[in-house]
Amino acid sequence: PADEVTALLERIEADGVKFIRLQFSDLQGQPKNVAIPPIQAEKALTDGISFDGSSIEGFARIEESDMVLKPDMATYTLLPWRKEEGRVARFICDVHLPDGRPFEGDPRQILKKVVADAAKDGYEFNTGPELEFFLFKMINGRPSLEFQDHGGYFDLAPTDLAENVRRAIVLALTEMGFVVEASHHEVAKSQHEIDFKYGPALQTADNVVSFKFATKTIALMNELHATFMAKPIYGINGSGMHTNCSLFKDGENAFYDPDAPRQLSETALHFIGGVLKHVRGITRIANPTINSYKRLVPGYEAPVYISWSASNRTALCRVPSPRGKSTRMELRSPDPTCNAYLTFAVILAAGMDGVRNRIEPPVSADQNIFELSKEERLAAGIDTLPDNLLEANEYLLKDELLCSVLGPHVVENLTRLAEMEWDSYRSMVHPWEVDQYFYQH
Ligand code: ADP
Ligand code: MG
Ligand code: MG
Ligand code: MG
Ligand code: MG
Repeated sequence: PADEVTALLERIEADGVKFIRLQFSDLQGQPKNVAIPPIQAEKALTDGISFDGSSIEGFARIEESDMVLKPDMATYTLLPWRKEEGRVARFICDVHLPDGRPFEGDPRQILKKVVADAAKDGYEFNTGPELEFFLFKMINGRPSLEFQDHGGYFDLAPTDLAENVRRAIVLALTEMGFVVEASHHEVAKSQHEIDFKYGPALQTADNVVSFKFATKTIALMNELHATFMAKPIYGINGSGMHTNCSLFKDGENAFYDPDAPRQLSETALHFIGGVLKHVRGITRIANPTINSYKRLVPGYEAPVYISWSASNRTALCRVPSPRGKSTRMELRSPDPTCNAYLTFAVILAAGMDGVRNRIEPPVSADQNIFELSKEERLAAGIDTLPDNLLEANEYLLKDELLCSVLGPHVVENLTRLAEMEWDSYRSMVHPWEVDQYFYQH
């Protein structure tokens, strides 16, 4: 690593870097950072940089608040939008305790642990998240609810006013090292999706943080507000973060079996079995806001029923048609407000439970489940996702495997946050109630 440090220090110098941002994520996936000048880089790269973790959500510990940021050298990136006034470089960091142990509330290291555990059986976990977002106009310097455009799925300019912004975002992401696969207008007005190439889960979770950061920054430079909120507007599609998942072993896709029915390996089926078994607890992590559950309702392409299918797009777990290297399972419930590190960690832990304990998935639901009557659904044994954050949190608390993966510190903090948010929400009088009762009673 000494050589690596020297090489990086030279690169920082050659790149004309004036500020180095050390970035990490709090429990809710919010990126946090501290900026250091380049003269501090050597210390940061060798010993790490101390900071006070007590004001970071989900970090506070009673005993102590001093924590240490250790940059992951592989994450060195120049921020593309700061070219003139001195360049800014960014590292994503792991959070440690002063004695060197990993901090148990650091989402990134929780993912690392699950990834390492799967590696014991020779598996590498790959994810390909598809982030959707809306662009709203900034009016008088403040985000408004005015749509930037009124385009629809795959629309072209001029209905799709966002083309230039999307282009700028794609260029910025590319400069940051993303391999962008596609970008398009989504179904709703002002809604967009930019897809980037899948990769090992830790790297793609880092990418999710960078993706949101870059998108929000470029939008703002164009006087737009980018939001990843799950359901910003009632009555139109919300934003998802479909998560494509696969296990590789010895460089081969372990979900692919050319000789099996549907060309899906037992590993793939068991992985799906495990994910479906734990999906209610996973929902607490993949859908972490009160608002997330306004998206998970029938009629807007979002999943509601616990099912899987290789042929129907409405299932919670879908196996898209490509095979070979691209064989994958797409979990369609996560939304982009989730903490990607924790979300990938619980999906992998659940999937590995399925693989290790040979959990058979239920019969696949190959017709449109939304067209079934309630009786037909129940007869087919198709259950639903939790209705709200509090219910999801209760499922998490009942899921021993997920609780042990996250650890007591994280589970306690997630529970505290869910209860706090729920109490505030349930005591509020919402416009819906006024509409419903004010005149009538
Ligand atoms: P959709 O048809 O659901 O809209 P997209 O084409 O938008 O799918 O996105 C598919 C995503 O799946 C991309 O991010 C792609 O890189 C990813 N992907 C492809 N192969 C794999 C794989 N083997 N494992 C995980 N993700 C994959
Ligand atoms: Mg897509
Ligand atoms: Mg696509
Ligand atoms: Mg989409
Ligand atoms: Mg998709």
